[in-house]
Amino acid sequence: LALNITRFDIVDLIRDCCDYINYNSEHEFKLMGEEEVMIFADYRRIYQVMINLIGNAVKYSPQSNRVEITIYHDEENVTVSVRDFGIGINPEKLPHLFDRYYRVDAFGHQFSGLGLGLYITAEIIQRHNGKIGVDSNLGAGSNFWFTLPMDDRMVEQ
Ligand code: ATP
Ligand code: MG
Repeated sequence: LALNITRFDIVDLIRDCCDYINYNSEHEFKLMGEEEVMIFADYRRIYQVMINLIGNAVKYSPQSNRVEITIYHDEENVTVSVRDFGIGINPEKLPHLFDRYYRVDAFGHQFSGLGLGLYITAEIIQRHNGKIGVDSNLGAGSNFWFTLPMDDRMVEQ
């Protein structure tokens, strides 16, 4: 996975993603935290990460149209979290979520997909030397988060 590293504002990227997803629907995306965070990363890959996470938050929330996105940073990392108020995930399934082709109750639910989005998302974040994780409550919602290093020397090795 080759990266094309440039410097850009990840908050701006996230605003663009929300606009794109909302073009034909009416979700309530609430952005919280910082107004601008300049990072060194692969813009298109991080855009893909956000589309995957926000897309999942929308898809797996039939009972809610609210998605909360929080962005903050310290000297070392920027942290982005995407919280939804949807179906949630059984804690037993959490360890498998980032596996290739894995889908919770693949044959039992009404949501279509390939089970590739989170696999690709985790690959992209790991390639940037970041971390990714999730906490979730069945029936209440999920919170997916990732970090990316602020220092370009951590990104390009
Ligand atoms: P696609 O390849 O189109 O993204 P997908 O959405 O099924 O298909 P992933 O994005 O990799 O695949 O997600 C894997 C599985 O994790 C999903 O099938 C779903 O069961 C579960 N999942 C992912 N995000 C959420 C979420 N926000 N809320 C509840 N379940 C989720
Ligand atoms: Mg998906």
